[in-house]
Amino acid sequence: MLMQKERELIVEYGIEMSGRGLSVGTSGNLSICDRATGYIAISPSGIDYFETRPEDVVIMDLDSRIIDGSRKPSSEWALHSEFYRRKPNIGAVVHTHSLYCTAFAVLGRKLQAVHYAIAGAGVAEIPCIPYYLFGSEELAKAAAEGCGDGMAVLLGNHGLVACGVDIASAFSLAENCEYVAKLQYLSTSIGKPNLLTEEEMARAIERFKSYGQDADLKQET
Ligand code: 13P
Ligand code: ZN
Repeated sequence: MLMQKERELIVEYGIEMSGRGLSVGTSGNLSICDRATGYIAISPSGIDYFETRPEDVVIMDLDSRIIDGSRKPSSEWALHSEFYRRKPNIGAVVHTHSLYCTAFAVLGRKLQAVHYAIAGAGVAEIPCIPYYLFGSEELAKAAAEGCGDGMAVLLGNHGLVACGVDIASAFSLAENCEYVAKLQYLSTSIGKPNLLTEEEMARAIERFKSYGQDADLKQET
């Protein structure tokens, strides 16, 4: 089966996304791009993550043509493609409706530097774009543009998009964004948080580049 490994990873991380409470029901979606072929393995639309099998994952190319698969691809296929077109060094995209991120997205408010964990996005703040219809070309364009140089963006009244060199790092960033959003919610509920300065964030972003076991790999990609 074409992109067998990637299909299995989509199934595995879909279960993680749902199981760890980052998405409700069939909301959210994930994809992995093989840069050598330009093919994308993307989760099918509206299928329970615990019931999704590798053969349900759809293979598309960067021109949005279906290469393989009998299922309808995620309704956000245009959004995933747009991120791959605009960010040549990413290999995976994760979209969630995680609760705290979405609460800020409902308010149209960005995530701020309340904790250094936000540095995984490569920027000091996670921007928020206005609301657009799910699955629309407008949403795809606004999200990829609004993401700027960072690796994550909030979608107004909708959720979060996080990307990374691979599915593990995109997923980890989505989890960290949810953690920072929760922290921002909690800290602003009981007081006025001390935000990290630009310099502190610049140092944390730099340090993040060598964080973890596969840091050399990440820097090369
Ligand atoms: P799909 O099930 O089509 O991927 O849609 C879920 C979603 O979150 C749309 O924004
Ligand atoms: Zn969504």
